[in-house]
Amino acid sequence: MTLNRDPECIFCKIVGGQVPAAIVVQNELVTAFRDVNPQMPLHVLVVPNQHIANTEALEPEHDGVVGAMVRCAREVARQEGVAVRGYRLVFNTGPDANNTVPHLHLHVLGGRSMSWPPG
Ligand code: 5GP
Ligand code: ZN
Repeated sequence: MTLNRDPECIFCKIVGGQVPAAIVVQNELVTAFRDVNPQMPLHVLVVPNQHIANTEALEPEHDGVVGAMVRCAREVARQEGVAVRGYRLVFNTGPDANNTVPHLHLHVLGGRSMSWPPG
């Protein structure tokens, strides 16, 4: 299967191995790697292997890969030892959410108690 990739996209380059990253989990649908600028003791990004800009670009055909992203995030949380105490999964979309990379990604955050609501 040929996946849709954007040659200018940093996360497409990580998925394709052209840019190095600390990969935690990878399968045919998704890749999980450590955030280069972690905001929590555990900060991993789960991305689809195909280029999808953000949640605004999601179509019904993407339902399978989005499910795979969430299950991958759970696998990361279990593997990294935060599943029992808890973790937070975040999609940032658009400027109010400080979304900076235009390739869909799910932040897996954990390792300490978090406040709510977010700032
Ligand atoms: P956003 O703000 O778009 O939700 O999150 C983008 C995240 O990607 C940020 O937490 C940022 O630290 C991370 N990031 C940006 N560029 C790179 C990179 O080249 N490698 C890795 N591992 N993380 C990156
Ligand atoms: Zn991309």
